[in-house]
Amino acid sequence: AYLKENKEKPEKIGILGGTFDPIHYGHLVIAQWAKEEFSLDKVLFVPAGTPPHKLHKEVLMGKHRYRMTTLATNTNPNFKVSSMEMNRLGPSYTIDTIKDLRKEYGKDTFLYFITGADSVLDFYTWKDYEELIKSCYFIAATREGYDVEKFNQRIEEIHELFGHRIFKMDIPDLDISSTNLRKRINQGKSVKYLLPETVEQYIIENKLYKDLKG
Ligand code: ATP
Ligand code: MG
Repeated sequence: AYLKENKEKPEKIGILGGTFDPIHYGHLVIAQWAKEEFSLDKVLFVPAGTPPHKLHKEVLMGKHRYRMTTLATNTNPNFKVSSMEMNRLGPSYTIDTIKDLRKEYGKDTFLYFITGADSVLDFYTWKDYEELIKSCYFIAATREGYDVEKFNQRIEEIHELFGHRIFKMDIPDLDISSTNLRKRINQGKSVKYLLPETVEQYIIENKLYKDLKG
């Protein structure tokens, strides 16, 4: 009602969920591209408290992942970090995050959940995915190393089942993953130019990823 009375355009908010263990330029590029391609007002980075698909793996303490995400994004006024999943108990499900954001922003705000191709490929395993795809839009970024055919096919399928609620986004391929960065650090190799220097410094100062188990 407030928006209509003021004849303002509804806000468009991008949400980038991830483990960010650590955050890297792949994440920052998909967020920036989504911001520009879809004229988003801002992108909210949401570090997962307990990622449901990584329960068996060792994930760095939330505090560190949250701080690194803040360091990586604080030079961009359109990027914000939310601790909502860190503050929630149990596994961090996207459906719960979208429901909470919907409550916070109201029904007129456009919510766009941003993901990479790998996440789209296992979309049907996400909790309450049918309800989820009806609750917000999705921006699916191409990702180096993932099956393009399968990716396109999955997007088609979602279009047929649920309508045009998912949008493909071509990004400049960056073959960077947190898994690979953790390995490099563990092997004593540099991660320079793969993530922001502030994050690199934070990792060094806190001696992160020195002894990897999972
Ligand atoms: P891990 O190797 O630990 O899974 P990751 O690099 O995949 O880490 P996540 O935190 O799992 O990072 O990713 C969060 C989101 O960002 C996911 O939707 C993922 O697909 C996307 N993403 C991460 N890196 C890239 C990249 N280089 N290109 C496109 N999308 C990416
Ligand atoms: Mg991943």
